[in-house]
Amino acid sequence: MNKPYSILLYYCYTPIADPEEFREQHHLMCLELNLLGRIIVSKEGLNGTVSGLKEDCEKYMELMHADPRFAKIDFKVDESEGHAFTKMHVRTKSEIVHSGLLHIDPNARTGKHLEPKEFRDMKDRDDVVVLDVRSDYEYNVGRFKNAVTLDIENFREFPEKVAELKEKYKDKKILTYCTGGIKCEKASAFLLEQGFEDVYQLHGGIIKYGKEAGGEDFEGKCYVFDNRVAVDVNSVNPKVISTCYVCGTEDDRMVNCANPVCNLHVAICEKCGWELEGACSTECKGHPEKRPYDGTGYYQKEMNGYNPLKGFNRKKKNDVQV
Ligand SMILES: [Zn+2]
Ligand SMILES: [Zn+2]
Repeated sequence: MNKPYSILLYYCYTPIADPEEFREQHHLMCLELNLLGRIIVSKEGLNGTVSGLKEDCEKYMELMHADPRFAKIDFKVDESEGHAFTKMHVRTKSEIVHSGLLHIDPNARTGKHLEPKEFRDMKDRDDVVVLDVRSDYEYNVGRFKNAVTLDIENFREFPEKVAELKEKYKDKKILTYCTGGIKCEKASAFLLEQGFEDVYQLHGGIIKYGKEAGGEDFEGKCYVFDNRVAVDVNSVNPKVISTCYVCGTEDDRMVNCANPVCNLHVAICEKCGWELEGACSTECKGHPEKRPYDGTGYYQKEMNGYNPLKGFNRKKKNDVQV
């Protein structure tokens, strides 16, 4: 670990009595530590991904762990050459991941947590089904070998798919996984509620599995929600599973289409990238709003009007000095 920045991925299901008040304090703390990223706060807990200088991230983790509500947070830490975000948002929502399963409390009951190596040793057994609870654009970039995937564009569609799963896999052991573990908390709890008996979840998700089990049998890349777009996790038996959206050759270079109206998220090879100037089609290449291509395929969101203190109550705004 010798890059100057860290990227943290974490969540915690824990009661937060006054999410709005917490949000304000937390937002200030993040600004003081010069962190950037996205944090969602709700009555049921918090879900975050932030980047910052390594020492600032360490301070953040220390402060969080000192709060009894967050003492159990298992931070996934990646190193980075720079920030992975351009803004700092801390928002309150009704759930820390939108699932529509408001009645489910993972602290009361959830699938058994498997550590990465336990998951690796169990996933190929005949009585086991490995279930990817993420959305289509995520597993299309990478997933576990032989995983069952769901035809969903958003996690809130997950509950609708469970009846189908029940018909096929009712008597199997179900091993769920997602990016960092958070979706599995409610997904596995919901499977138990719906009558599945043996439900497990990959603790810390694909990201932790990459660090602790070498990412073995994870094929492709892991989609992430920061400017890295997708990261490598498999150092044991990596495999490219995606093909260039334009020419069809095997390639896993993820880009956003340079046409902001399209913004399609696909693999496009180096050669096609330059030919189409970062667009996914000649149509998009000719679009009047097409963004200039710098070879990365990543585009900063509009910074116009961004105010790091946006969201603070008016009364607070006067006391806050930044
Ligand atoms: Zn190509
Ligand atoms: Zn496009």
